[in-house]
Amino acid sequence: MSDLETFRQETRFWLEENGPKGLRGRTATDIEGVWGGQKWVPEHPDERVWLERMGAKGWTAPTWPTEYGGGGLSKEEAKVLAEEMRVLRLPQALVGFGLTMIGPTLLRFGNEEQKKQHLPRICRGEIRWCQGYSEPGSGSDLASLQTKAERDGDDFIINGTKVWTSYADKADWIFALVRDDNSGIKQEGISFLLIDMDDPGVNVSPILLISGKSPFCETHFTDVRVPVSNVIHEIGAGWTVAKALLGHEREMIAGTFGSGAKSKAPNGRSALSSLAVERVGERDGRVDDPVVRDDVAQTEMDTKAFGLTVKRTQDAAKVGHLPGPESSMFKVYGTELNMRRYELMVRILGPDALGWEGEGFDTFALDTTREWLRSRGNSIEGGTSEIQLNIISKRVLGLPD
Ligand SMILES: Cc1cc2nc3c(=O)[nH]c(=O)nc-3n(C[C@H](O)[C@H](O)[C@H](O)COP(=O)(O)OP(=O)(O)OC[C@H]3O[C@@H](n4cnc5c(N)ncnc54)[C@H](O)[C@@H]3O)c2cc1C
Repeated sequence: MSDLETFRQETRFWLEENGPKGLRGRTATDIEGVWGGQKWVPEHPDERVWLERMGAKGWTAPTWPTEYGGGGLSKEEAKVLAEEMRVLRLPQALVGFGLTMIGPTLLRFGNEEQKKQHLPRICRGEIRWCQGYSEPGSGSDLASLQTKAERDGDDFIINGTKVWTSYADKADWIFALVRDDNSGIKQEGISFLLIDMDDPGVNVSPILLISGKSPFCETHFTDVRVPVSNVIHEIGAGWTVAKALLGHEREMIAGTFGSGAKSKAPNGRSALSSLAVERVGERDGRVDDPVVRDDVAQTEMDTKAFGLTVKRTQDAAKVGHLPGPESSMFKVYGTELNMRRYELMVRILGPDALGWEGEGFDTFALDTTREWLRSRGNSIEGGTSEIQLNIISKRVLGLPD
C-alpha cells in the first residue's frame, strides 16, 4: 500500500471517530462558517469540539508547518484530507481572514517571533482578524491613506479612521496600513501593523447596509500605543506586504463567491437549477422555457469551468506558487459571475423577489433577495472591478498607462 493510501485510511478512521455526527451534512447554506475568536458564539454545540480537535491536529491549516500550528501535510495529503471530509460531509472546522489573508502573509513576511505568536493561535481559531486598509477618501487610491503612526520610543502612536472594516466588532486583532512618513512618494512611508482591538483608544461603530445586515464598521484609532515590533516586514515597506495580502484576498473572494458554494440546494442541484425547475416547470428533464434554460445552462457551465480553474490555482498555491496579478482576473470573473447568478435568480423569482420580511414570503425568496443585494458589493470589496481591469491591462497584458 502506498504512503498516500495509508494516510487516506488513517485519515478516514480519524474523521469517523472525531467528526461530530451533528455537523455532518451541514453545508455553507446552513452555516456562515466558524470564524472563531474570543467573541465567537457557536451556532451549533458541536462546532467548538470540532474546532478543538481539528486545531489540535493542525488540520485547520493542513499545509502550514507544524511548528506554527499547521498540519505539515503535503499538497497530496491535504487533498486527501479534503476528499475524506467531503465523503463524511463534514464542514470546514474554521474559516476567516486569519487562515486566508494574514496567515499566509505572516508565513512569507513575518519574523520568527511574530510567526510563533500569531500562527498557532490562528490555527486553533483563538483569534479573529479584521482588515484595516480602506479609509474615508482612500479606497481605490489606497496608497493615499493617512492614518498616522508617530514614533515614540519603542512604540508607534496611532491616530486615524478606517472604514468598511468587515467584522471589526467581532475581531480580536486588526492588520492595518498606517503612514509613518509623509515625505516621499505615497507608496513609501506606509507600514503594515498588527493592532490588538482591545488596546485603549480603539473604537468601532457598525454601519448598517441595504441588505439589512451590518457586517461593516468604522474603526477609530485615538492615541493608540502599539509596539514597533508589531510591524510586519520593515518599517515603511508596508506597501509590498499590502499588495501580497491583496493577492490572497482576491483569490479568496473569487473562490468564495464564484464557485456558487453558497447557493447549493439540499437535493444536490445548484440553488439556481432547483429554482428554475420549481418556478418555470420541467419537461423531459429540461427547464420548460428556452430563454431561462439557456441562461441557467450558461451560468452553470461558467460556474463549473471557473470552479475548476480556481481549484487548479489553489493546488498550485499549495506547492508554493504565490498569487500574482492573475488573481485580479479571478476576482473580476468570479464576482461578476456571482452577481450574474443572483440577477438570474431574482429574475426567475419575479414579483416574489420584492419581499423583504413578514408573512406571505418564503424564506428562500427572502434570502435570495438579500444575497442579491449583498452580491452588489462583490464588484467593490478587495478592490473594485475597474481597478482589477486596470491591473490586468498593465501587469498581465503589458498595455501602456
Ligand atoms: C463587502 C465589502 C467588504 C469590505 N471589507 C473591507 C475590509 O474588511 N477592510 C477594508 O479595509 N476595506 C473593506 N472594503 C472596502 C473596499 O476595499 C473599498 O470600498 C474599495 O477599495 C473601493 O474604495 P472606495 O469605496 O473608496 O471607492 P472609490 O475608490 O472612491 O471608487 C469609486 C468608484 O470610482 C472607480 N475608480 C476609482 N479609481 C479608479 C481608477 N483609477 N480607474 C477606474 N475607475 C476608478 C471605482 O472603481 C469605483 O467605481 C469592503 C468593501 C465592501 C463592498
